[in-house]
This record gives sequence, structure tokens and C-alpha cells, in this order.
Amino acid sequence: MGVGNAERAAIGAIDLHAHVVPSEIVEFLAREGARFDTQIVESEGRRFFEIAGRARRPIVAPIHDPEARLPDMDAHGVSLQAVSAVPFLMYPELEPTTAAEFAARVNDGIRGIAAHASHRFLGVATVALQDGRLAAGELDRARGLGFVAVEIPARLPGRELDDRALDPFWEAAAALGMPVCIHPFDACPAEPFSRFALGNVLGNGFDTAIAASLLAFGGVLERHPRLRVVLRHGGGAFPALLGRLDWGHGTFAECRTASARKPSDFLDHFWFDDVTFDASTFRALVDRVGAARVVVGSDHPLIPYQRSRVVEQVSEVGLDDATVRAILRDNAAALLGITST
Ligand SMILES: [Zn+2]
Repeated sequence: MGVGNAERAAIGAIDLHAHVVPSEIVEFLAREGARFDTQIVESEGRRFFEIAGRARRPIVAPIHDPEARLPDMDAHGVSLQAVSAVPFLMYPELEPTTAAEFAARVNDGIRGIAAHASHRFLGVATVALQDGRLAAGELDRARGLGFVAVEIPARLPGRELDDRALDPFWEAAAALGMPVCIHPFDACPAEPFSRFALGNVLGNGFDTAIAASLLAFGGVLERHPRLRVVLRHGGGAFPALLGRLDWGHGTFAECRTASARKPSDFLDHFWFDDVTFDASTFRALVDRVGAARVVVGSDHPLIPYQRSRVVEQVSEVGLDDATVRAILRDNAAALLGITST
């Protein structure tokens, strides 16, 4: 309400959902991308990652150059970004040892970006979730390097997130105090998600809802009560379907085998970013999950702040000043353990 542009800039938003590709990784994939089914291709003077011979992701300066990100951050009052790898770099289908080596290489690159301007960027690590113990080991190393969180895919080939083989990873995340950001992606979705970009605009939201539901129904949150989880894109379909999930818990015995508590009882384990592209959807999210659970997230620089409006919308939906400040900054600062920046 009373928070305008000047006040927003003074608050200094913390963006918990931004992406990078370290330049060392661009160079590495240019040399060795065949092993990862990823090529660097040029078209009309622009460079792209080409995944599995068909999905293209642009390589633009702000994705690997921290200095090139700052003007957009400054113009929209973002003081700090928690940066994670572009999601396809998680390569959940790779053989575990190769994936673990690559994750360490990615983390070393992200560490370099964070070190370049440590008051503007914090690292979100990547791990090879194909092997729960390898993932726990890399998470421990990343914590030592100053990373503040970790990002994982919403889905793994042949394994669900509540698989007991992943418990070493969940244990490590809880013990190290590292929030786990679940990021959906499907570089090459199948029908009908291959059409109309449905894999992105709908599939991502469904995958996030499935991942969060598995953590609740599958007992992961019951087994690891200190675990903190960040859901991308406003939690996708999860907040809207919470009532139905709770109904399922009360109705189907199968839903109660690993967790005595219903999904909404675990809401205080979850944080939700505000990439919703619609102010009323954002407000509904705040009303459903509570303002203390909502943080700024943007998908920057893949989506510039001008288009996502993830900072501006916070003060445009009738929230009081203290709540605006909490969503813009204080909630994320508490989650990441930041006292001042
Ligand atoms: Zn993203």
C-alpha cells in the first residue's frame, strides 16, 4: 500500500529464484557436450544450447556474466540473487558418477560468480540426485564453499523423491540447514506436453505438485522434520490442490501408510516463490499458504524483471507494509540465514 518504488529499492528484495550458467560450463559443454547430449550451436548470430538435438536454450550475456545482471537487478530494487544452474544442467538421466563430477564442476563455476560480487549473489548448489550418498557428499562440500541452498529436479528417471535411497541426501540437507529448492523442467517433453509449450506452462506446475505431494504422502517430511523446501513458480498446482490432497489423505488408506499427517499439516516446511504472472494468483497464494511462506523468485535473467514483475506485484495487492517487507526480503533472509547484506 504505502510501499512505492523508492521504498522498494530501499528494502532491497532478495530474489530466491535466478539462474546462471558459469562460463566455464559453456566452454566445457562446447568441448565435451556430446557426453551430455548437449551442443553449443549458432544461429543468426546468436548462441544456444541444443539439448537432445531439438530443445534450444539461448546463451545470453547475463546468464554467465554477473556484471551484465546488475542493471536489471538495480532497476527493480533487487539487492541480492540466490543463483542456481539453469535446470537442464542437473541432467537427472546421467550415470551417477559422471553426473556427480559434472555437478561439482557446475558448483565450482557458481562459486566463482558468487565470489565476483558476494554482496549481490549467493550460490545455490546442484547435486547428482541419482545417488543419495554422492549428493549428500557434494552438499556438504558446497556448504563449506558458502552455498546457501541446493536445487534438485522435481522428477528422476526410475525413482521417486520419497525413495529411501535418497534419505542420505534429505538427512544432509536437514543437518546442514540447506533449503532444498525443487525445480521442475523437461527439456524434451512428450505429447501432449510437446505442444503449445505445455511442458513448460502446465507440466512444470504439475511436476512441482507431484514432488511436494510425494514429500508429504511418502513420509520424507515426517522422517526429516527439520527439512525446508522451496517450491518454484508459486508451488505450481500444489497450493490450489491442497484441499484435494488433504481429502485424499482422509479417504485413501494408502495415503496414510508413510505419514500420519495430511499434506497441509506440512505447510510450514514449504516456501513458495512468486513467479505467477498474475497479481490475483499471487494474492491467492499468499492467502492460501500464509505470507510468511512466500518469497520473491523470478527466473531471471531468462525472464527479465520487467516481464515477471515479481518485485512490483508484492506491493500492488493490498498487503500491509510489514507483510510487503517480509515477502520482499525478511522471509528469504531468515530462510537463508542472512543477517545483513
Ligand atoms: Zn527457474
